[in-house]
Amino acid sequence: MNQNTQSQLKTDVCIVGAGPGGALLSYLLNQKGISTMLIERQPHLHKSFRGELINVDGEAILNKHGLYSLIQERGALLLEQIQYWENGQIIHTVSPSNGESHVGIHVPQDHLLEAIVSHAQQHSSYEQVHFNTIMTGLLRDKNGQVVGINIRQNGVPASIEASVIVGADGRYSAVRKHSGMTPEIRKHGYDLLWARIPAPVGWEPAVRMASMDGQQLALFSQFGGYVQIGWNIPEGAYSKLREQPIAPFVDKLVSAFPCLSDSVAANIQSWSDFVLLSVESSYCPSWAQDNVVLIGDAAHTMTPTGAFGLNAALEDADVLSELLVQMAADQFSSTAQLQKLQTIRGAKVQQQLARQVEMESSFQQRYESFL
Ligand SMILES: Cc1cc2nc3c(=O)[nH]c(=O)nc-3n(C[C@H](O)[C@H](O)[C@H](O)COP(=O)(O)OP(=O)(O)OC[C@H]3O[C@@H](n4cnc5c(N)ncnc54)[C@H](O)[C@@H]3O)c2cc1C
Repeated sequence: MNQNTQSQLKTDVCIVGAGPGGALLSYLLNQKGISTMLIERQPHLHKSFRGELINVDGEAILNKHGLYSLIQERGALLLEQIQYWENGQIIHTVSPSNGESHVGIHVPQDHLLEAIVSHAQQHSSYEQVHFNTIMTGLLRDKNGQVVGINIRQNGVPASIEASVIVGADGRYSAVRKHSGMTPEIRKHGYDLLWARIPAPVGWEPAVRMASMDGQQLALFSQFGGYVQIGWNIPEGAYSKLREQPIAPFVDKLVSAFPCLSDSVAANIQSWSDFVLLSVESSYCPSWAQDNVVLIGDAAHTMTPTGAFGLNAALEDADVLSELLVQMAADQFSSTAQLQKLQTIRGAKVQQQLARQVEMESSFQQRYESFL
């Protein structure tokens, strides 16, 4: 794109956001020969502290499109059990359901996104991801009809004309905001502290749960020899917590999981070794308006509980790709198909959102039943 003048690009489907939902959708549409542009505000695909646990639904979508084996080549870790711990001892284990080989698969998000994008690039018609490109608003014609988006690419304003605009731009979706689709937001009474540290030698791949002051403390084994710590704290409590010395807090972690003591001592020395996630979920009453449609976190943000969010974004992309193929066959003359995404996917998403609330509120009771 010319750096000095405002340019206008053109495509059939413009996807905002190269997260799991946007990357998969762009790949699927490209395979069907549909002209697609994928824009991403960041300069690369690398993400830190994002959803990285694939469940059986996400695995099925990736297998369906021949992508899972490519991800495996880059590296993925099957988690064999969910373990509940008390004072350094396992008190209960949950094994994979009948016929399943894992309770979740850890896939570094780089591996997921790079596998999808690099496989897509094998098709000569695939446009590279437009990095450093931020959606700043909707482009409208003189009747107010949305005909594309405004962007800033490498700081230079431009626009993209498109028949359909897909907001795959996450929990704070700009596409959602500019199109006036307002989500219903729910707080869950807790926030989450994340940290990633090297796993002890011989650490079995599992999800490990403990209860700390009545809150869930979870450890997720990660590919590459890491442990991700996800520690629920009362909503809004972090600023007060940070005023206190970290040592007593970290001591609680080590008392729950003594085998982590060396790694914790070497890697968690200050509050800045944790990252805070302000937890909320949301559901958009409407996922589509005219020729603008939302998928993934933009349509329905989930909490980390149960690891549904990333998988739901993949499922949305899979369903929407089929609807867009039907629309392309009709030269995008009608946008009614876009409403069908929510008709097909909405009920399952709402069940998962309700399940999260149920899992969160029953955690302590479930945990105590194992004692
Ligand atoms: C700490 C944490 C842990 C989680 N753990 C899990 C888990 O284990 N399993 C699971 O299934 N889910 C998990 N989730 C949820 C999961 O990360 C999300 O549901 C998933 O990433 C949603 O995918 P998406 O493609 O909809 O959006 P995102 O992954 O949020 O991607 C949106 C993309 O849009 C880009 N973007 C945003 N605005 C603009 C703009 N204006 N212009 C251009 N680009 C833009 C962003 O840079 C980003 O790359 C977790 C979430 C968090 C925060």
